[in-house]
Amino acid sequence: MLPEIEQLLILQDKDQHLRRLRAEIKKMPADAEAAKGRLAAATAGVTTAKEEFNLNEVAIKNLELQIQTRRDTIVKLKTQQFETRKNDEFTALAHEVVRYEGDAAKLEDEEILLMERGETLKSALKEAQDHFTTTEGYVKEELGKIKERYINVQAQIKEFEGIRAGLAAKVEEGLLERYDRILAGKGDVIAGLNGHVCTGCHMKVTAATFNDARAEKIIPHCPNCGRMVYIAHWDD
Ligand SMILES: [Zn+2]
Repeated sequence: MLPEIEQLLILQDKDQHLRRLRAEIKKMPADAEAAKGRLAAATAGVTTAKEEFNLNEVAIKNLELQIQTRRDTIVKLKTQQFETRKNDEFTALAHEVVRYEGDAAKLEDEEILLMERGETLKSALKEAQDHFTTTEGYVKEELGKIKERYINVQAQIKEFEGIRAGLAAKVEEGLLERYDRILAGKGDVIAGLNGHVCTGCHMKVTAATFNDARAEKIIPHCPNCGRMVYIAHWDD
């Protein structure tokens, strides 16, 4: 193997590592946003559950007022009933009392239903609050980890950039330019030849390219993908 290829393979290894680190750091804001999104959803869940519970409570209060109004009316009607001396008026008032009592009973049935619903809504609210507490804990932990990892990866990137610069400084200028140009376009620059096949693009290289690689006088490029190639594996 040409010493230049050996040198560039080490450089490529650092570049691959840098690429992974940069990809990881790039993904972090989205991960943090997703975690915050989960917390926002849990918060919304509590708000909705609270609203539903409160609305039900208001409906119960409203029914209680309506029932009380009927009860007050019944008391008034009964007073009128015992004050009247007219028989037909007495009977009419008695009918009214029955009607109001029926109304009140109906409203009380409705109230019982709402109270039962209130119990369900109360459990749902408790569940939503518990879910929020759990989620808040997880999200806090996750955001902490992301932040920690961010600092860590940033430091690693800096470190590897330093190592990379040191290695690059030792590469001949023209060769480094070729390397960097392919790096910017392809990612990986050096590809081994497995026989006549370029492992970068999995296409067969020309006989001339293969012979150049075998002669190890120059660093040939794959005619198809443009990567620098060397013979990595070859059975005669
Ligand atoms: Zn290729």
